[in-house]
Amino acid sequence: MLDRGKAPADYGVNAIWLGSTTLSQDKLMRLRELKCRVYVEFNTLHSAEYLKEHPDAAPVGVDGKVCPPPEGWQGLCPTHVGYRRDRMKAFERVLASYAIDGIWLDYHHAHSSWERAEPVMPDTCFCARCLGLFSRDTGITLPDLPPGEVSQWILSRHKRDWVRWRCGVLTDWVREFRDTVDAIRPGVLLGTFHCPWTDSDRGGARIDKLHIDLKSQAPYIDVFSPMPYHARFGHAQDPEWVHRQTRWLGEYLGIRGKPGERKKIWPIVQLSDWGENVPVAQVRPVLDYGTRAPATGVTVFAWGRLQEQWDKVEELGTYYRSIRGTERKGQAPK
Ligand SMILES: [Zn+2]
Repeated sequence: MLDRGKAPADYGVNAIWLGSTTLSQDKLMRLRELKCRVYVEFNTLHSAEYLKEHPDAAPVGVDGKVCPPPEGWQGLCPTHVGYRRDRMKAFERVLASYAIDGIWLDYHHAHSSWERAEPVMPDTCFCARCLGLFSRDTGITLPDLPPGEVSQWILSRHKRDWVRWRCGVLTDWVREFRDTVDAIRPGVLLGTFHCPWTDSDRGGARIDKLHIDLKSQAPYIDVFSPMPYHARFGHAQDPEWVHRQTRWLGEYLGIRGKPGERKKIWPIVQLSDWGENVPVAQVRPVLDYGTRAPATGVTVFAWGRLQEQWDKVEELGTYYRSIRGTERKGQAPK
């Protein structure tokens, strides 16, 4: 945009998300001059670098062995004390160093590759540490079986307890992130980029497989950013799917998209080509569905590829400018 002598505001863009590891004071100042709010994406359970020095933080599968990363999407064991401390320290550093407007959790879910039409979601983590904590926290005594059999015993007899416990572990991370925001830079928004599935989509896999319990995380989160990448996720001809998912989320969490509401829904929608192409003609409907109540904001995925297709950027600008200052209605999609 700058190379073309334009500013984000010329396209109706008022906020930019940056990766927490690529942020700098220079970038922050430049974006401030351009009157952009600056939000940061923070990698929670996908910091694969950590495994090089700490292989004991790798998730263990039902067979009792380290579970390979599904399609390269490496997750980590959520109860590894050193890993959790490493992430919390990194989170603190970002907040302490930069006067940002918000920080968004990313990949806060189980070891999996779900961002595709056919997700890969192995059951993990059955490491000795997780098994011990599960037994301690639930009071369930585990049988004296080989590791690869204890997992089966749990999943066949105590699946509900296991899922509830795993969700609780991930929610407790969110609680600590919230405490850190409040302690270091109160007022900064805490958001989360999360799987957009409803409780019944894919047999309830958002909770049962990914262990994302949005209701229990809700007290700690300001902005929910579901990721309904319609083209990538098998809805290439159905951009209305974006609105169906945000509408469900609003009803589920009691968020209506009214002025003054503390909690917000700002989906991140797919405009760039990833897996499936998004034609120029879909820019407008995707943004239309993405900004209907209960959504009160929208962000676009992702600039790296999108900027190579300037006709889409122009279309985005035309649409953003047209809705500036208006309240979007959540009427049933036509
Ligand atoms: Zn584990």
